Amino acid sequence: MRIVSGIQPTGNLHLGNYLGAIRNWVAMQDEWTARGATCLYFLADLHAISMPHDPAGLGANTREMVAALVSCGIDPDRSILFNQAQVPAHAELQWLLNGTARMGWLNRMTQWKDKAGKNREGASVALFTYPVLQAADVLLYQATHVPVGEDQKQHLELARDIAQKFNNDFASEDAPVFTLPDPIIPPEAARIMSLRDGSAKMSKSDPSDMSRINLVDDADTIMQKVKKAKTDPEPLPSEAEGLEGRPEARNLVGIYATMAGTDVAGVLAQFGGQGFGQFKPALGDLLVSKLAPMAARYRELREDRAALDAILARGAEKARALAVPTLDAAYAALGLVR
Ligand code: ATP
Ligand code: MG
Repeated sequence: MRIVSGIQPTGNLHLGNYLGAIRNWVAMQDEWTARGATCLYFLADLHAISMPHDPAGLGANTREMVAALVSCGIDPDRSILFNQAQVPAHAELQWLLNGTARMGWLNRMTQWKDKAGKNREGASVALFTYPVLQAADVLLYQATHVPVGEDQKQHLELARDIAQKFNNDFASEDAPVFTLPDPIIPPEAARIMSLRDGSAKMSKSDPSDMSRINLVDDADTIMQKVKKAKTDPEPLPSEAEGLEGRPEARNLVGIYATMAGTDVAGVLAQFGGQGFGQFKPALGDLLVSKLAPMAARYRELREDRAALDAILARGAEKARALAVPTLDAAYAALGLVR
């Protein structure tokens, strides 16, 4: 069994990134490697150039993301952690698959329609063929399972269509070049809201640093941000329904539940009837105790460029070795002389 999953490199990581994305990767790694599977986790730096981007920022974000992933529990000895740009087979296979993918298939991708908007003529070709690169990302490793959220289901279907057509057109039935990967539905990702506005997502682009808890924040900063978080004057309700129309309260209770590994009902059973004067310090303590060890590693590792590059180089080497047989088979099936 092989699991392949990619993530866009991003910097200045915060609690939303951790609870919404990174934590699920760590859980998948722990669950699947225990079952004998190999997890390949890559930073989708090649995908990042499909939209306008800042080259200096891309390199920095790629390294920062590695620092965050490793600090939060991705183990480069158990998982294969790498970036696409160091494994040229991704781009090569994409080109080979471009011969199989149909314009009509890509034209139907809702993400393409959404992202290009009205300006299709001005969109990059990469934005259009992005799903073919995604297909290459997973087919290259004979992925058996790919975690996909709602927005990526269509792209995985496309990858399966491409694999099937390629196998039909260029391979014999008893020796297919590609495995058709099955989707796995990841655990529902937490959606963390801003500490200053319960209707806005916590995000690194928010100009107010008080709106988010950064992965690098120290204990005092975390406590202060939680204490200053926007709330309402009511005490916490005893039932989840009582959080309706109270987005800030709901967000803080949700954060507590996720960090404590329980649910909203469980938190309200404990804190219902209490005011924020009691709940906030408890939430702050919980956040500090869970985040402090990761934050300490992250602060150190993000400054250690040599260590980060070594992790990426080692991951890329392992990924390249796994990619070679599939890439060779694809070239050969197409009759390309090398
Ligand atoms: P930006 O403001 O530039 O969009 P961001 O803070 O939203 O940055 P991204 O780089 O867009 O971060 O997201 C990286 C990953 O973290 C994605 O998988 C995204 O879904 C997840 N993520 C980001 N913000 C949150 C959040 N507030 N709650 C849950 N998940 C989040
Ligand atoms: Mg975002």
